[in-house]
Amino acid sequence: MAIRIKLFLFCSLFCLLTAASAQQSSVDSAQIRGAMEFLASDALQGRGSGSHDELLAAAYLASQLREIGIQPAGDDGGYIQNVSAEFDFYREGKKQWNTRNVIGKLQGRDEKLKDQVILLTAHLDHLGVGKPVDGDNIYNGADDDASGCVAVMQLARALAHKKAPRRTVLFVFFGSEETGGQGNQYFLQHPPVPLKNIVANLEFEMIGRADTAVKPDELWLTGFDRSNLGPELAKHGAKLVADPHPSQSFFQRSDNYALAKQGIVAHTVSSFGLHKDYHRPSDDVSHIDFNHMKEAIHSMLGPVKWLANSKFKPEWVEGKKP
Ligand SMILES: [Zn+2]
Repeated sequence: MAIRIKLFLFCSLFCLLTAASAQQSSVDSAQIRGAMEFLASDALQGRGSGSHDELLAAAYLASQLREIGIQPAGDDGGYIQNVSAEFDFYREGKKQWNTRNVIGKLQGRDEKLKDQVILLTAHLDHLGVGKPVDGDNIYNGADDDASGCVAVMQLARALAHKKAPRRTVLFVFFGSEETGGQGNQYFLQHPPVPLKNIVANLEFEMIGRADTAVKPDELWLTGFDRSNLGPELAKHGAKLVADPHPSQSFFQRSDNYALAKQGIVAHTVSSFGLHKDYHRPSDDVSHIDFNHMKEAIHSMLGPVKWLANSKFKPEWVEGKKP
């Protein structure tokens, strides 16, 4: 009798846990899809760098951070860091520019480790409205980089759940990456925490589709061999490999690079397989592989949690610091 009761209880618990995890999984899928369908919708007109549409994306991400329970770390007690300054543009020279970053903070709980900061980032802008291709002029930027923003948001959600990590985690959505990184430049000049406290930065870019150059469940890290961060995350379960497209210089092509040049160990996580929809109006939600995207985000949860709770400080490999 006793054994039967134990067996019954065990089976009931197992069923409950299985049902709960299936329910959680469908919630995750719905959150990911819902956020993508808003950020990459025609309503946001391609989130053009420095535009009102970019501000709408910023306001949405800020409201999501609030809902999740992440503390604001932008201007005046809010999440948005208003960027208004003169910048040197690659072709056009110096000009005034206005954009926004969205900044949220999850305070670390460990007295000794809370001053150490893990920085998780993506860029919230894309190319806006432009030259029509096949009758479509809205450059939705679903993969580039709504997918990265949603990944950072899901990581924030997971890290804010239950007790805070030992280290502090900063979630930043940069504005105006596509026009040369005005958001990241301003962030570096006006950081919400001392830059020397930032232990590592992971930027998430274009994880909405799998890259056939690596295994279907793998993601790659730009500049993998430049520091010991990628190998260490891989040891802790991340399905992270070296960037299979070194000739594309992706390490230098996202927000991480400006941070890396300041000495912060900073890389980009991606699975961009050089698809034909890159920087075209057809980079839209209909081309997102939601199964891949969800698995990609899930595969990083454990490793990022480990990093946020560990004492491990990544370092550049000698001679590989940019
Ligand atoms: Zn991008």
